[in-house]
Amino acid sequence: MDEHTPPGEKRDVPTVTCSRCDREWDLEYELGELCAGNAALEQFALDHRRHTGHFPDEVSPWQATCRQCPDREAFLRERPARRWAETHARHTSHDVALRDPEGAETVVEPGGS
Ligand SMILES: [Zn+2]
Ligand SMILES: [Zn+2]
Repeated sequence: MDEHTPPGEKRDVPTVTCSRCDREWDLEYELGELCAGNAALEQFALDHRRHTGHFPDEVSPWQATCRQCPDREAFLRERPARRWAETHARHTSHDVALRDPEGAETVVEPGGS
């Protein structure tokens, strides 16, 4: 008999809320698919954004906003955000503002390395 995992023990399922949707979810579905806490929240955030157009409350995204056209994107990590800003600048010659989760903004300019 394995006594280390007693049946019926309450699992600690993280929850996530979204004030725009005025809803709360548990991440049991994501945890079941991914088996990892941080990845589950990240997956939820990406799915939520894909289907609703915004991130849930707990998530502070990186935001890349073009200064010269309506194009903008939000990302959970710096790397894809910076890549989006750099490729947008590269292909369109637009300046792109890149805002980190704390709100500090840098500008990615076309032709910068
Ligand atoms: Zn929402
Ligand atoms: Zn642009």
